[in-house]
Amino acid sequence: MLTPVTDPAIIEGYLRDASNTVGHASALYRPRSADDVAAVLSAAQARAIPVTVTARRTSTTGASVPQGGWLLSMEHLTAVEAPNIAQGGVILGQIQANLSRLGLLFPPDPTSRHECSLGASIACNASGARSFRYGPTRPWIEEIEVVIPTGQILHATRDTPVPADWPVPRWVQPDVKTAAGYAPADNLLDLMIGQEGTLGVITKARLRLLDQPKGVLCLFAFFVDRPTTLAFVERARAGAARRGAKASPGALSPRALEYFDSNALDLIRARLGGVPAAAQAALYIEVEHDAEPPLDAWWDALLDGDALADATIVAEDNAGRARLQALRHAVPVGVNERVVANGMPKIGTDFAVPDHALGEIMAAYDAVDIPKVCFGHIGDNHLHLNLLPDSPATLERARQTYLELARQAVALGGTVSAEHGIGKLKRQLLAEMVGPQTLAAFRALKTAVDPAWVLGRGNILVGPAGA
Ligand SMILES: Cc1cc2nc3c(=O)[nH]c(=O)nc-3n(C[C@H](O)[C@H](O)[C@H](O)COP(=O)(O)OP(=O)(O)OC[C@H]3O[C@@H](n4cnc5c(N)ncnc54)[C@H](O)[C@@H]3O)c2cc1C
Repeated sequence: MLTPVTDPAIIEGYLRDASNTVGHASALYRPRSADDVAAVLSAAQARAIPVTVTARRTSTTGASVPQGGWLLSMEHLTAVEAPNIAQGGVILGQIQANLSRLGLLFPPDPTSRHECSLGASIACNASGARSFRYGPTRPWIEEIEVVIPTGQILHATRDTPVPADWPVPRWVQPDVKTAAGYAPADNLLDLMIGQEGTLGVITKARLRLLDQPKGVLCLFAFFVDRPTTLAFVERARAGAARRGAKASPGALSPRALEYFDSNALDLIRARLGGVPAAAQAALYIEVEHDAEPPLDAWWDALLDGDALADATIVAEDNAGRARLQALRHAVPVGVNERVVANGMPKIGTDFAVPDHALGEIMAAYDAVDIPKVCFGHIGDNHLHLNLLPDSPATLERARQTYLELARQAVALGGTVSAEHGIGKLKRQLLAEMVGPQTLAAFRALKTAVDPAWVLGRGNILVGPAGA
């Protein structure tokens, strides 16, 4: 068994994630192999000591924050065995950069790709802008090595059955991009994807890859109002290759479709030029191509859709893409500056709704009377509304508004988390979304896999009865 670190000054560096919640832990283990992980989990299971897996701590939900017990850090599990096989602690962006040099593509691209780990992105079924075309991480994982909470090392593909004594919850997930709750999986691999570090520690993964497209055309297109923008979104996604489906002939078929509201555009205006005064909304669009960039088709559609077509910023090479990257980056930077200036946390939504409900949820976001900035993955009906309270009273109102919007998203057939997961901060929302029966089924699965409820205790579900 590894010797743990118990120096509080070292452990201190592992107690907080991007949600800014802070936890506590008595020991830190830094395994170098799956066998090390197995030994730690066996010992924890025997003594019923909670273990929280911690990777790069970019979770926005408190998922990597321990509430006592031991920490298990992935920081030394960073071997890359082949372009498509790596240990769980490797930074995702490093894998993508390696693959790009080989002309290969691993499509999942969370915005945090240069900060987050491969294992966590699988454990959280992470997404990002390209999920419009490629779906979340799930379909891009072919095999994992996973250590379950009793200390067994398993290998899982889609041909690996779930152990017979694990009662997989049979529930109907909302038909939207979602990262909320255990998957109603028919194989061990799919069960282990999206379990937020509660059912197993992913120590290694084999990835499914594509060839890089020959080129990617990027557009930043401006619109005078929300109805025009929404109409264009409908047009852009009609017949598109989406979540793995094939494109219809002649479809515009972007791989990413991202939205910026007028407040987001103001943040860009404050830093950079290029945003026309009349623009009240914008779409950032990426389109893969294997021949000539399909600029004419997009240009016609923009003209036809009453976009401020002449102002469209087009990028076909690295310099152009860097300019667009700077435009997009100005938004989260501006939001963070406001958060610091306000001295109050932001409250950010991660809800997704079905296509038919996009206009309704956006109208609800528009109606919120709290300083705000809205941007994100409009192709997936998954926008991040950032509420920026500037006083304790507004913060309280923002929290209440967040709950009301979550309930509205669920009532519209959506999810309380499209990509960031439940962690410890959204358990109540998940409970409301799935109802008591499914919640009980989640608990039954957890008990079967992890009798002492040691792994990731407090994520997705509150602890065992009586804890
Ligand atoms: C600025 C920013 C942008 C982001 N953008 C996106 C985005 O576009 N899309 C998106 O989906 N998410 C996004 N996220 C959320 C976050 O980056 C992802 O959930 C990411 O997968 C977490 O990786 P991590 O290495 O930081 O994991 P951590 O925060 O350390 O852990 C996250 C969870 O995974 C568990 N875990 C960690 N490693 C393993 C493992 N090997 N096996 C099992 N469980 C494990 C932890 O216990 C915890 O529950 C963003 C976060 C930030 C701060």
